[in-house]
Amino acid sequence: MTKEQLIIAGPCAAENAEQVVESAKVISQLSVPQGTTKELRISLFKPRTNPGWDGVGLAGIAWMIEQSHLLPVATEVLSDQHPRQVVEQILAQNSHARIRIWVGARNYNHGVQQAVGRIAAEFPNNVTAMLKNPMHPDEKAWNGGAEHILLAGMPHENLVLCHRGHTPNGHPNPLKLRNLPDHDLAMRIKEKSGLRMVFDPSHTGGTLELVYLMLRTARKYQYDGLCIEAHPNPTEAKTDALQQIPLNELKSVLYNNWWTK
Ligand code: PEP
Ligand code: MN
Repeated sequence: MTKEQLIIAGPCAAENAEQVVESAKVISQLSVPQGTTKELRISLFKPRTNPGWDGVGLAGIAWMIEQSHLLPVATEVLSDQHPRQVVEQILAQNSHARIRIWVGARNYNHGVQQAVGRIAAEFPNNVTAMLKNPMHPDEKAWNGGAEHILLAGMPHENLVLCHRGHTPNGHPNPLKLRNLPDHDLAMRIKEKSGLRMVFDPSHTGGTLELVYLMLRTARKYQYDGLCIEAHPNPTEAKTDALQQIPLNELKSVLYNNWWTK
């Protein structure tokens, strides 16, 4: 891993006020090595492979506004309207807020990517972004997605890429990972693009033991941080219950599996 780490941590999705408040409290108080930046993951929108609960949507903006006084807040967006809606509503209440908008693996759409780039260009002091790799190992699509965001005006230093692995369908998967990481591909794209690259152990691992294994494997590569799921009470999580680290264990998990020497 690199020295200046970005840790985006929190629940898969924002579910209710208590869960968001508790998550923000723990993440903001989490002690981390020098040079580490923390952001709160609290997604308002959830892409779903099969129909199901798909997030609280814009109704959760008030929670993001509240926590934006404590630390930077991060949400996925699904439509080309979401970036502006989220950013303008938060900034109307807290002009100092720092907001990370991300585009996920299941929503590779250049209209959304450009909308993220445009809003980031308009508010370079407030808005950063993250682009996850697409579902399939398609280097061209990942690079192209980053270029769509940058060409729409996004400052280069405000965009990070995130490796969340690729769908295992049709590939050997002896460990039964949820998604298969390709660290060499991620490092190649990092090098080529000059963009920072974080790793997502949650959506690669899929279950806690494998999440921890993913951390220990990935720490040998030059990742610039993590996007990692943790929940105050994972058994009650509405999405991705099996892979979310209990918040009160996050610190020891990170120190034992990521920051170990
Ligand atoms: C997520 O981060 O919650 C998510 C939906 O991930 P991905 O886009 O990697 O599937
Ligand atoms: Mn998730």
